[in-house]
Amino acid sequence: MAYESGEFLGIETLRQMYPDLDAVLNLTITHTMWRKRQTINMIASENVMSPLAMLVYLNDMMHRYAEGKPYKRFYQGLIYVDELEVKTQELMGELLGTKHVDLRPISGTIANATAFRTFTKPGDKAVVAPVQAGAHVSHTKFGTLGALGIEQIEMPFDIEEWNIDVDKARKLIEEVKPKIVTLGGSLYLFPHPTKEIADVAHAVGAKVIHDVAHVLGLVVGGAWENPLKLGADVITSSTHKTFPGPQGGIIASSNEEDYKEMGKVVFPMFVSNHHLHRLAAMAVTAIEMKLWGSEYARQVVRNAKALAEALAAEGFNVVMERKGYTTSHQVVVDVANLGRGTRIAKLLEDAYIIVNKNMLPWDRPEDVKDPSGLRLGTQELTRWGMKEGEMKEIARLMKMVVIDKRDPSEVRQKVMEFRREFLEIHYGFKLTREDEVKLLKIMLHAES
Ligand SMILES: *Cc1c(COP(=O)(O)O)cnc(C)c1O
Repeated sequence: MAYESGEFLGIETLRQMYPDLDAVLNLTITHTMWRKRQTINMIASENVMSPLAMLVYLNDMMHRYAEGKPYKRFYQGLIYVDELEVKTQELMGELLGTKHVDLRPISGTIANATAFRTFTKPGDKAVVAPVQAGAHVSHTKFGTLGALGIEQIEMPFDIEEWNIDVDKARKLIEEVKPKIVTLGGSLYLFPHPTKEIADVAHAVGAKVIHDVAHVLGLVVGGAWENPLKLGADVITSSTHKTFPGPQGGIIASSNEEDYKEMGKVVFPMFVSNHHLHRLAAMAVTAIEMKLWGSEYARQVVRNAKALAEALAAEGFNVVMERKGYTTSHQVVVDVANLGRGTRIAKLLEDAYIIVNKNMLPWDRPEDVKDPSGLRLGTQELTRWGMKEGEMKEIARLMKMVVIDKRDPSEVRQKVMEFRREFLEIHYGFKLTREDEVKLLKIMLHAES
């Protein structure tokens, strides 16, 4: 049967007529139901937007082009985009304590590329936080730094403190005299020493770029130090990890000159159009963080500590007990004796507990395919309204799978039952279903 008339047949009939369409809808809907209602998600780099942020994300700006910066564009049709972009910059600026915010990087990696390229030329040197201290691949010769032809020199790691070895790093920076020093990481339990490093970096004329991709939501909520207040010249970040916004990137600077220089690099070097529908969702999320960010960020960290303590009590080897396990949203578990990262992460997935395997400081490079750790994050659990008591329950569910070796499909039933109580997103505006439909009609059909 051909379908050319364009008449309304209803979605079920269309699915029967077009198996490809049916498959696409099935995968999308099943994924959404699974990850939003049935799983315990502890991927530390993920989050969920509020319903209002999601609805405004569907706006028409996703179809438009805006090369250049607000009020200095290469295309017409952007009179409202210009205003919205400036408003969003202002909102993020208020949260970060600076006027110099650029939202054009479309991801954290593009934010890093922009900052790195602004302050270096190919052949220059960068002193970077070591991979053992959690540095992201974009800070290494294998990632963005390498692609830009910048030489990577790692600061030494202090395994006792699970951090950069400050004294040795100072000497290294004095010796190497790099153009940039990078801090921040993807496995990030304790803040890197911004002030100590900034003092010596500035003395040799280097810029300090602190990548807060993982902890941006904690920074704006006041539960993690703001590197711009401690001497970092620039912060780069993703906007979708502990900060529960749309996927994207951001740069903020403590001074106007650096901001302007980076603005000349991000466009035209790393973005052309910058995915404009993000702006409205970012702005809504920023307003929500102004209202509830402090409460949210503090609960995230309390939950991480509670999860670490509960896992240790259940018999897991949680790293860094001597420093109270964590000051961020992350908890790191060494599962070398329990089957190693790859196997354990898969077993947990079978029980609908979603985590990722992670290299630990003592792993060898060849362990990358099967590292000894798991990295867990509490930011999304917190958004779903979970508190310390739920962290204990999650630790028990994890023990059933990993230590008691219960059948994951049996534990899955308990996970789904547990999850049923947490289906509303907290720390954001609440909408009635009526409001939601009203906004959807506007977004889909410009129909008010
Ligand atoms: C996730 C992450 C990035 C990359 O961000 P994307 O938005 O995925 O490009 C950069 N730096 C750090 C420290 C990260 O954790």
